Amino acid sequence: MKKKLSNIVGPSNVSDNPLDLEAYSYCSSETQLEPKLVVWPGTTDQVRRVILYANQTHTPIIIRGSGTSLADGCIGENMLILSSERMNKIIRLDLKNKIVEVEAGIKIKELNDVLSKFKMTFPFTPLNPTTTIGGMIALDTPTKESRFFGSIHSWLEEIEFIDGTAKHYYTKKKEAVLGKEGLSGVITRAKLRITEPPLLSIDIFKFTELSELLGKVRVLKKDIEVYFLEFLDKKTSQALGFGNNYVLLVAYTTLKGKKRNLLEVRRLCELLDSVHSLLRRKGYYYLQDPYVSLEKSYDLIEWCEKNKVGLHGHISIGLFYAYFLKEDKDLIKTFKSFIKRINGCLGIGFGFGSMNKDFISPSQKKELMKLKEEYDYNNILNPNKAISYR
Ligand SMILES: Cc1cc2nc3c(=O)[nH]c(=O)nc-3n(C[C@H](O)[C@H](O)[C@H](O)COP(=O)(O)OP(=O)(O)OC[C@H]3O[C@@H](n4cnc5c(N)ncnc54)[C@H](O)[C@@H]3O)c2cc1C
Repeated sequence: MKKKLSNIVGPSNVSDNPLDLEAYSYCSSETQLEPKLVVWPGTTDQVRRVILYANQTHTPIIIRGSGTSLADGCIGENMLILSSERMNKIIRLDLKNKIVEVEAGIKIKELNDVLSKFKMTFPFTPLNPTTTIGGMIALDTPTKESRFFGSIHSWLEEIEFIDGTAKHYYTKKKEAVLGKEGLSGVITRAKLRITEPPLLSIDIFKFTELSELLGKVRVLKKDIEVYFLEFLDKKTSQALGFGNNYVLLVAYTTLKGKKRNLLEVRRLCELLDSVHSLLRRKGYYYLQDPYVSLEKSYDLIEWCEKNKVGLHGHISIGLFYAYFLKEDKDLIKTFKSFIKRINGCLGIGFGFGSMNKDFISPSQKKELMKLKEEYDYNNILNPNKAISYR
């Protein structure tokens, strides 16, 4: 197999070296699943030929971006890893029409570093800056900006992908792959809308009572000038220097917030983006992505506080990040049951992958099964991730 794949992608772009196999046997969870081979295609046609070969030899493929999945979405025992890492170019930047066309393996930070030189941005900033555009599209990654901009859907003009039968698409029909966790196709290119970074002002609201905080969220959710609305529990608030309170950090697209100074606003945004590394330094090790209704946010926040679980997140869209200490690994099981009990979900942010499969609703399952029938009936791509098919 190595020889055949070398013929497609070139010998330096395929490896069964034990060091590579070990590196690609991990994502950002603790699970280790060692692959058989890693392949780094450099072009869309190489991706197509690799998938064609996989179909002929019944070889399952796991698609991988930066490997930051927290749901074991991009690792697979004895499988072929197809990495997008070497397809990471900006193909075309059209400032007049505010469009950028990129290869799927480009990292969000690298893209935005280039766009910032032209005073432009692709306005979604996940906590992990190494996330690839392909990974973000595959998971329809929500970020703090999703409150204002909605899903990546409306920022995606066209998408190129190769489906599980090696058929090539360049299409506006993004639903086939957007948020489908690589079950239907390997995303190779994307045409994205970009925009000028908005000028923001910020308010910091501190609360001692949860009921007051949730009342304020209800009001702010109706405010169309709110750009992001971020919740910090007391521990996170302390870690960021806001004292022992619940905090709402609110950014507006107008100047109505009290913090308006450009440098101060930038500092607060950077502080918010550093929350993950700050909590990791405090010993929080495991990360979960609870998604709950505003009514149930009260229960979630209370549960986390009682169980010494750190919590922050995008409260206006109901998506939080819950941080568990290393010694509290067993608590995660109880947490999952609790989330089910309050009709919440895990996997909306990080994907269902292998870890959150039991949170998939029957209708989501049906939709993914239908996609498999249409685009990957041999079940070559990401088998047993999110759903079990065939
Ligand atoms: C510190 C940290 C912070 C994080 N913060 C956030 C956050 O703020 N919000 C959030 O939602 N998630 C977050 N995550 C989770 C993770 O970063 C996201 O799930 C991210 O979208 C994964 O991108 P990736 O490029 O690393 O993809 P991978 O982890 O490599 O893959 C993720 C999934 O996408 C599929 N995939 C990847 N590339 C392609 C492609 N080209 N075509 C088709 N399918 C593909 C994979 O098969 C897999 O199912 C965080 C993770 C860490 C470790």
